[in-house]
Amino acid sequence: MKQIKLNARAKINITLDVIRKREDGYHDLSMIMQSVNLCDNLTISINDSGMIELTSNYDWLPCDERNLVYKAAALMKEKYGIKEGIRIHLEKNIPVAAGMAGGSSDCAATLVGIRNLLKINASDEELMTIGKTLGADVPYCILRGTALAEGIGEKLTKLPPFPDSILLIAKPPINVSTAAVFGSLDLSNVDKHPDNDKMIELIKNKDLKGICENMCNVLESVTVKNYPIINNIKKAMTDNGALGSLMSGSGPTVFGFFESYDKALNALKYIRAKHHIKEIYITTVFNTIRE
Ligand code: ATP
Repeated sequence: MKQIKLNARAKINITLDVIRKREDGYHDLSMIMQSVNLCDNLTISINDSGMIELTSNYDWLPCDERNLVYKAAALMKEKYGIKEGIRIHLEKNIPVAAGMAGGSSDCAATLVGIRNLLKINASDEELMTIGKTLGADVPYCILRGTALAEGIGEKLTKLPPFPDSILLIAKPPINVSTAAVFGSLDLSNVDKHPDNDKMIELIKNKDLKGICENMCNVLESVTVKNYPIINNIKKAMTDNGALGSLMSGSGPTVFGFFESYDKALNALKYIRAKHHIKEIYITTVFNTIRE
């Protein structure tokens, strides 16, 4: 049986700037994205049923046309005339609706996995073009590593690899709607924007301390105001040894960089006990060069 296993990695935003609201309702963004080793696992196999079958370890996650994995498989079948059946098992580890692009990363892994399994002659760029129709973050999730993402997130420039580092990731038990966050954003109220040129220099110089001092996400101006727990977790991370901490995407996930695994573990124990956070993980940054 033809089968392939893939890791679909989460991303964090080292910076996230909103440049302007566009006429079409979307926002132009400028953000530095970084893949991390916290990942979902996909197993894709081919059979002769002609159907798409998706299963997941989470019984509450839709496994039909609403799932981005299903959508990606359907699009590949249509675009490349695939007659075979495609069976996919999705093992979720990335927190859902968390600002970590979990669904987009699963979608990207499905496009790449089906291409590789069936030896379809399609470049990564071609898959990025297809992927863009399913979600603005999908092209980045195909590229991975360290990148500047502009436009609605689909215009990508690869950056030098991020310095090796240990991260603590904590998702508070609240649901944040990305659309509502962008809807409530008032750019005239944002007093601090990231300096992406400076951040790119810091990444080039592998200056983790400088990176941590300059991380910035303008969406915190909306999400933190509505959910003070985000600031409490950020503070708990820095009080417990983080070099810096930030909310990822539209939230609510918070991440922090630590100098050692032991320091990250101490912070994890503290935050789990004090803030009752169940979805909390220690991981590392992922650079494509090593894969
Ligand atoms: P982003 O950072 O791109 O905003 P996110 O982390 O906020 O992503 P996801 O975890 O990708 O959000 O999922 C958001 C919604 O999409 C969920 O409510 C879920 O029902 C739906 N969804 C569809 N496919 C998936 C998938 N494969 N994994 C997780 N959620 C999915």
